[in-house]
Amino acid sequence: MKDHKVYADHAATAKVSERALAAALPFLGERFGNPSAVYGTGTDAAGAMLTARKRIAGLLGADASELFFTSGGTEADNWAVKSAAELCFAAGKRHIVTTNIEHHAVLGSCRHLERLGFEVTYLPADRDGLISPEQVSSAVREDTALVSVMLANNEIGTLQPVAQIGEICRERGVLLHTDAVQAAGHIPIDVKELGADMLSLSGHKFGSPKGIGALYVRKGLTLPPLLDGGAQERGRRAGTENTAGAAAMSEALAESLEDLEAKTARLLAMRERLIGGLLRIPGSRLNGDRQKRLPGNVNISFEGIEGEGLIVMLDMLGVQASSGSACTSFSPEPSHVLKAIGLSDELAKGSLRLTLGADNTSEDADRILEAVPKAVERLRRMSPCKF
Ligand code: PLP
Repeated sequence: MKDHKVYADHAATAKVSERALAAALPFLGERFGNPSAVYGTGTDAAGAMLTARKRIAGLLGADASELFFTSGGTEADNWAVKSAAELCFAAGKRHIVTTNIEHHAVLGSCRHLERLGFEVTYLPADRDGLISPEQVSSAVREDTALVSVMLANNEIGTLQPVAQIGEICRERGVLLHTDAVQAAGHIPIDVKELGADMLSLSGHKFGSPKGIGALYVRKGLTLPPLLDGGAQERGRRAGTENTAGAAAMSEALAESLEDLEAKTARLLAMRERLIGGLLRIPGSRLNGDRQKRLPGNVNISFEGIEGEGLIVMLDMLGVQASSGSACTSFSPEPSHVLKAIGLSDELAKGSLRLTLGADNTSEDADRILEAVPKAVERLRRMSPCKF
């Protein structure tokens, strides 16, 4: 058992589930056809794409015609933000509202649009990492093209009031995009209840292989393509389809939503145990709202600790976790999310993110509760600046 490593970094990526792998394999073998081809193997692959599309759309309360496969969450976010802006540009709308805690896929797309002459309002999250509908309401203007607010934050797990923001957007005639990459498969999602015009998904966050995602685009909204080329995805997203990925993603989403209530209750109990136990460490603080957060997210900062050192030490003690988001873990900059909610550079760099999945056990939680205090204590002892 000592060799068993605890994996507590599901927000970075989740293991491909056995069911998702089994769903993908035929399309990497016998059923290898190109969905655009008109002969048997081609139409078989096209049929599989349609089955996967219907299944995923059904799980989100959407219609199959509203779901477009992409290469992942980054592409879905880029497509939604850049193409919605392009669409509204013709009508003279050059203003975008987003938040200062979005994933870099949204923030980078907004920066790109700023270089093209768009104006972007970055709503500041409060100290718990929340955005209020009132903030959105006061930021929307006559020339606002798009509001983009994530459903769940990838670092601190906070859940935003997207359904209420959706009502505001509908009343004011503004498009709403939500990045649901961290939420999908972990909390129930109904696109109609959210009032979202566009919603991004990424398969590898809930058990399918990397390299597949999707963008929901509400019926009636004709989003210009981000990628030009062939007529795949009904002429809206060029590139030969990832049939194996689509089949795996639909299976993984269905699987992760099965018995969701029971899985959530188990994760919540584990999360609360971890938060309670880790906050007993002197000089620690919880980042993100205590209640309005993903069931498997724990994010804690420790004074006098360097996050990277903590992650390496934890790895040696058999626990794999992260400090900040995976996409920024090679960056010496402190996390923009933790800075946005008011942490000093030092505390932002001393953060630990544990993200649990359905495969984590209470023995894993025991192991984490044993390893983290040990690692923090050792690092503080080694540090020249005494805590
Ligand atoms: N949006 C959020 C909130 C994420 O957490 C991530 C990945 O971590 C992405 C977008 C990008 O997704 P992908 O890795 O599929 O490109």
